[in-house]
Formats: sequence, structure tokens, C-alpha cells
Amino acid sequence: MFSVIFTRILLAYTFCTIRMVMKNKIVLTLLVLTTWTTAASARDMWIGIEPFVLKSITDSRQRVFEYKDIIKGSKETYFRVEEKETYKISHFIHHNFQRCGGYRVLHNKPEVEVKLMDKKALVRSTFGEYDFQKLINPDYSINQASLVESWLPQVSRQYTNSVITHLTSYRTRFYKSEEGVAALKWIGSEWERLTASRNDMKVDYFYYQTHDQPSVILTIEGSDPVLKDEVIVIGGHGDSINDTEHSAAVAAPGADDNAAGIAILSDLTRIIVEQNYKPKHTIQIIAYAAEEVGIQGSYDLARVYRDKQTKVIGVLQLDGVNYKGSPDYDFALISDFTNNDQNLFLASLIDTYLKLPWTWDQCNYGCSDHAAWNYYGFRASFPAEALIKEENPYIHSVEDTFDKSNFDSVHAVKFTKLAIAYLLELDQ
Ligand SMILES: [Zn+2]
Repeated sequence: MFSVIFTRILLAYTFCTIRMVMKNKIVLTLLVLTTWTTAASARDMWIGIEPFVLKSITDSRQRVFEYKDIIKGSKETYFRVEEKETYKISHFIHHNFQRCGGYRVLHNKPEVEVKLMDKKALVRSTFGEYDFQKLINPDYSINQASLVESWLPQVSRQYTNSVITHLTSYRTRFYKSEEGVAALKWIGSEWERLTASRNDMKVDYFYYQTHDQPSVILTIEGSDPVLKDEVIVIGGHGDSINDTEHSAAVAAPGADDNAAGIAILSDLTRIIVEQNYKPKHTIQIIAYAAEEVGIQGSYDLARVYRDKQTKVIGVLQLDGVNYKGSPDYDFALISDFTNNDQNLFLASLIDTYLKLPWTWDQCNYGCSDHAAWNYYGFRASFPAEALIKEENPYIHSVEDTFDKSNFDSVHAVKFTKLAIAYLLELDQ
């Protein structure tokens, strides 16, 4: 968003560049310009960058982005930048890590300062002693075999394929494009169609900041008078991006990243309704907006849950599920920015119900929406489709199309089955 300044005002700009002059040492070059201007002034935003990403930027010896102010926090470093600079950071992260996210957007400077000063907030965000989440004790025992086994054959590749086909028919699902708004609204209408027979299910749209692309939230109200206050979240992002240019102008079909994830969430919804399942806990199935631009949608959403102290007992993230990049493994459980206890629970579910090979891996930064939940102290897990080093080479390009997987969802349905086991075993 731009605001035009019509009167001549005095502006003092500070331009800083990060330069590398010797190994592992950052030198900030500060150039202060004082100028009279009638030009339009871009709206600034504050972003938080994780240490690993910042180190990578400085190590690259590139002038990756320009910033106007800097605050060093204990976990992240905060920069005040124009919005266009965030696209450069996204591009750098995509290029160097072949993943999404890696920075996050804050609304304004006061929020940055409050975050730095508010010790309790820091304790909460690191799942500390006083965190309300500590009071929740998820039951990770596995004892719903007959129920889980009866659901697994219900998984439909045909339906999953149809959702991927539809979502890739949008030229792009970029968060600032008209198509990207329409695609998320279609997800909502499809979930409304699937759940029309149930009055304990509803679809809501969550709008973050001032953007038009909503996150879509399907809520299945819990049937147990006590456990209904606890929420199980299963989600994935609905937006897409093309790395060559972060705009609505270029095509970004995003078949694997992440039409496939939305498709298996939709199939899970279809099965819940067909099995006439009435969960004890409240279940929320979420299609996040704006994941590809610093996981903005999920950060804003998870913060609301934190502020309301919603009892979320577990979060499962499904992002990129239909590319079998690792010959030896079907699942790579991401061990950083996730909850170890819940990760071990997922590993047990794979061993018990899927009997497929899995391994551990790390993103080394907050690579998808699980990191937003993790940041606000919730138990989140991210089972990836392949080792990071064997990631889908087509993501974030015009080539992330459904034909790359022969128009079929053979790999994706393994994740639907994992989501079924996760849901039914946690909801007991
Ligand atoms: Zn993704």
C-alpha cells in the first residue's frame, strides 16, 4: 500500500547495507541522506529474521535487501523495510534453501519493542514455565486401531486428484492476486459443500492485516462437554508463488506446493462426513493465506489463538505432500521449529499404521506454517514429503504442475492416512 505525500516535507532517510568485509563479521554502512521530496512514500513494515537466515545473508556477500532501522532481539533481528524489500528476502530464501518463509512480518515498531521488553511474552513464546500450554497434556497413546484401520481404505486418490486439478487451474494463487483470493474462497465453498449435511461444522474466513486473501477455517465442534474446549488443528497453505517474480503477473500453479496439501485436507473432510464422525475435541482444518511471503497468514492467526489462550492440543502441518524425492524415505519429520513429543507420536503412528520408511531432517529456519504455531508456544509438527536436500526442484516455479506426478496423488495419500491416524488417536 502506498500513501502519496502531496506537500513538501522534510524526510530523513537512513539507508543501511550489510556488507561483508571479513569472515563472520558484519559491518553496517550507514548513509544518511536529507532531502526535500514530493515523491510517494512506501508504507514501511517491520520484519523479524531468524539468526540462521541472517547469517546466510551476511555470508552470501550480497546486498540482499535495504533497511531503514534495526533492532536486535534475543531470538530474531528486526528490520524496518519497505514492502518490496520483503520480496527480495523471500527470493533469497527460496533460492538458497528451496523453501518458503524464513522471516515474519510484524505490524509496527511498538509491537517489536513490546516483544523485546515483555519478558513474559518471551517466556510464553518459548513454551516456558508459565505458559498456559503447559497445562495441556496430550494423550499420545495409540489404541484406536480398529477405527483407524476402517478409515484408511476410504482415502480417495480420485477425489484428491480432482481438487489438485481444480486448484492448479488458477493461473496463480499468489496472495495479492485476484485469482489467489478466488482460489481460497473456492476452498471454503468446497468445504461448505462437503459439510452441508452437518450442523456441527462451519466454515469461517480469517482476514489478516489488510490483505484480501483469507485463511479458511473449517471448525467441527467437539461433542464432549469438557474436551470441546481443546482444539486439534490440521492445516496447510492455499497460496502459491513464482520465484522469478513475486507478483500476480506470473503463473504459479503450485500443484505440489501446496494444492496437494489442500486436496488431502479436503479428502480428510470428506471422510469425516462420510463416516459420520463426531469428534470429542473441536477439530479445525485450515487453509492458510500468504504462507509463501513470510508465513504471514499463520503468524497472524496463531497470535489470535495465543491471545485468547485457546487450548490447542496439537497442530499438524501438511505442505508439499505429492513429490517422492527421497528414494529411501516416504516421510521426513522436521525436527526443528516443531514439538519433539508430538514428532515422536507421529513417528509411532507411521510405524503402527503405515509401516513406511521415515527419517528426521531439519529446515534450519521456520520453513512453513508450523513455525508460526511453534513460535506462539503450540505443539506443532511438519512431516515433509522428502529430505530437504532432495526437495521438489519444481516448487515456486511455473513448472510445479500436476503432470509432474502423472496427474495422480500416489505419494499424497500417504499423508492423508497419517492425518487420519493423527486425528483419531489424538481425539480420544
Ligand atoms: Zn509450501
